[in-house]
Amino acid sequence: MTQTDVARPWEVQRRGLLLLISSPSGAGKTSLSRRLVADHGDLILSISATTRAPRPGEEEGREYFFVSPEHFDDMIGGGQLLEWAHVHGNRYGTPRDPVEAALAAGQDVLFDIDWQGAAQIRTAMPQDSVSIYVLPPSWADLARRLNARAQDSDSVIRGRLEGGREEIEHWVEYDYIIVNKDFDRAYADLGHVYRAERMKPARNPWLPDFVRRLASETTTPSPARSTP
Ligand code: 5GP
Repeated sequence: MTQTDVARPWEVQRRGLLLLISSPSGAGKTSLSRRLVADHGDLILSISATTRAPRPGEEEGREYFFVSPEHFDDMIGGGQLLEWAHVHGNRYGTPRDPVEAALAAGQDVLFDIDWQGAAQIRTAMPQDSVSIYVLPPSWADLARRLNARAQDSDSVIRGRLEGGREEIEHWVEYDYIIVNKDFDRAYADLGHVYRAERMKPARNPWLPDFVRRLASETTTPSPARSTP
């Protein structure tokens, strides 16, 4: 540790947290998640593997790792996935190595995953997980957003809307709920949750030493000011 590290222990001794964000398709969690990651240097986005085909504009390794069903089977067999699930007729899973590397480096990891994946990670790492469910303000709004995205066929959109009704029943399993009526407001709420969770003592192992040193510090009282 350098002298600077000792003076600013919070910069070197953090315990990473796992931010699990779920919502029905089209409720805005992907935009919220990507902005939060862009705004916080210590937060990385977990890039999932999926058997679904890329949408127009999606890039390998940026939105997802697009893999064949056989490759996905190999990843499961090789223990390479932290969790995985069937969602809307495809399989999605979280590669284990990048998450473990980030946590070992004290970074936080954000997961844009469905309720099944969130449940698996929460069970495996309950102390480190913080889960947030994003709800749309109305079903009509959700349908409008899915149509406006214009990335999926009508039948895929219908399937996602139907799947969404089952998905939202799981809101009760989450620590925080955000209704995404207004993006800026929802984003501010997400930021507040993240910042508050980061301030919990268990996530800051530097605190006991820091407070011990603080308590033992001797200070020379400044000369008493004369009152006018
Ligand atoms: P989309 O096809 O719209 O990108 O994602 C469909 C759903 O799969 C979304 O609810 C998304 O959060 C979820 N999903 C994405 N990656 C993963 C993952 O690694 N694991 C699980 N369980 N769900 C995922």
